[in-house]
Amino acid sequence: MINLVLRKGKEKSLLRRHPWVYDTAVKRVEGDPELGETVRVLSFDGRFLAWAAYSPESSIRARCWSFNEDEVIDEAWFEKKLRHAIEARANLWERTNAVRVIFAENDGLPGLVVDQYDNVLVAQFLSAGVHRHKALIAKLLKQITNAVTLWDRSDASACHREGLPLNNGLLWGEEPPEAVEVVEDGVRYGIDVRNGHKTGFYVDQRESRLTAQKAAEAFRKKHGRGMRALNCFSYTGGFSLALLKGGADEVISVDSSQDALDMAKRNAERNGFGEDKAKFVCEDVFQYLRRMRDAGETFDLVILDPPKFASSHRHVTRASRAYKDINLLGLRLLEEGGQLFTFSCSGAIDVDLFQKIIAGAVFDAGCDAWAVGRFAGGEDHPLLMTYPEGEYLKGLHLLVRS
Ligand code: SAH
Repeated sequence: MINLVLRKGKEKSLLRRHPWVYDTAVKRVEGDPELGETVRVLSFDGRFLAWAAYSPESSIRARCWSFNEDEVIDEAWFEKKLRHAIEARANLWERTNAVRVIFAENDGLPGLVVDQYDNVLVAQFLSAGVHRHKALIAKLLKQITNAVTLWDRSDASACHREGLPLNNGLLWGEEPPEAVEVVEDGVRYGIDVRNGHKTGFYVDQRESRLTAQKAAEAFRKKHGRGMRALNCFSYTGGFSLALLKGGADEVISVDSSQDALDMAKRNAERNGFGEDKAKFVCEDVFQYLRRMRDAGETFDLVILDPPKFASSHRHVTRASRAYKDINLLGLRLLEEGGQLFTFSCSGAIDVDLFQKIIAGAVFDAGCDAWAVGRFAGGEDHPLLMTYPEGEYLKGLHLLVRS
């Protein structure tokens, strides 16, 4: 058995069941562990702390499987973890067939993300530990799900950090179609599992999309007309379709990727939304917002769901300025009584900081704004209470008046 012995004092986070061991916490390695091999983590004075997967190249040197010395990290253990996670999502299938069935650290399987789109599973093996057990996990997923395909999208930057080979290909089953079709809260989406972002779709925005749909419905009821909305960083049109489903009159989707917008257009067609209502602009959002400001355009609702501006703590200051910039511009485009849906998926920017940044933008815009709702991932993105890093997605639903 290989032992990873920590420096004095570095056992504290593991005693609180936080699942990461940083390279700086390791005093010595007793033995010669292979990539992803299960090791025993010990405190400086030899106390058992955890079973963990060893990752020689990553600054997260080991990720914990279990804090219980009696547990054995074998096939039965993986099966139990996968089953628990899959069972916890059982209720979601009534409203959607796009579900995150495994959410990495949060489900006790560090680095493993599995999304199910209809009967197609798309997995990301993003840590040395799950990479080492890929064949076993793939076999278990075949046994315990009803899927006909397992596609591997282990081509994220996280793989580089872990020293893992990249893979984008079939692990078992049928070749997936060019667009896997799903229905979420009555809206149809096509998902490109080979080329789309992450596993192809932002499953984590399900609850926010439903709120958008309801906001559009409520607006129509109140005003007797549909809203005019702007969806910035639209990707394949998730929010745009939800707003149109709710009865919006016009939704402009802005993204810098023409491929994403082409997919968004096909998604609009899937739902029967014509070009009079669903509009698409391929442009840099920062530039587009300024252009709209200068043109005096206004909207009843603006959505800002940018990519991760802060990839680490080192980028927080610069990212904060970028978030503030787009939010200030977004606020200024709103009609009196308009709504702003604003998000950050930067793990390095926590809920408090995000709220402060938005408050700063509100102050500079010289308006009043109320958070009438808060956004986070849905129940298929459960937050492990001992792992605050799991809360990467945060958002505010603001009501804005001058
Ligand atoms: N809101 C989307 C997810 C957004 S992902 C959804 O719910 O599905 C971020 C998107 O922002 C990507 O599609 C990317 O192409 C786009 N993007 C990144 N930087 C951009 C910029 N400066 N201007 C416009 N789009 C940008």
